Amino acid sequence: MGFRFVAIPGHRVVAHPQSLPSEERLEPELPPLHEAVERAFASAEFRDVKAKDRLRALLKGDKPPHLGSPGSGFGPSAVFAQPPQDLPALLRLADELESLARRDAGERALVWKCTECSARYAVPVALARSVSIRCERCGHPVELNPGRSLGEESLIDPFLGAVNSARHELAGFFREAMARGWPILVSTEEISG
Ligand SMILES: [Zn+2]
Repeated sequence: MGFRFVAIPGHRVVAHPQSLPSEERLEPELPPLHEAVERAFASAEFRDVKAKDRLRALLKGDKPPHLGSPGSGFGPSAVFAQPPQDLPALLRLADELESLARRDAGERALVWKCTECSARYAVPVALARSVSIRCERCGHPVELNPGRSLGEESLIDPFLGAVNSARHELAGFFREAMARGWPILVSTEEISG
């Protein structure tokens, strides 16, 4: 399910079926992939429960969310975090998201290029050893010599990149909302049809 987070000043929160006002609103720029946003939370906890379980319980639990929707296509909102009482838990969650991002970005690779056709070869640093291969594209020999690589780079696929950018976005958003003293509301996409 696709989550949407917004923060607005407490006195502007309205009840469903009214919509939340669009002015004075803070909203993280999340990647359009639902899976990436769900995955961003991974094992992260909020007040001793998995953040993901808390989101599900708020939106799909026995008591349906009763605050205004953030916009068309989204259902009513529930309070995910309320300052000041949730401030410490939310700051810990922000830290946790950032350390998950650092951990997942941690694997490094050595990179070489075929001198003939420039095809790129990357091997995790831990597995790199001196070996000669035939270029997959042109058949030219390529020396994967760790002493003569083009350098190291982060070995991260585009999906994990989206997960990590969601983590950084959410962490910044949580901190900013708490700094302003605004409640954080969450809603989910309405299933149409
Ligand atoms: Zn080649």
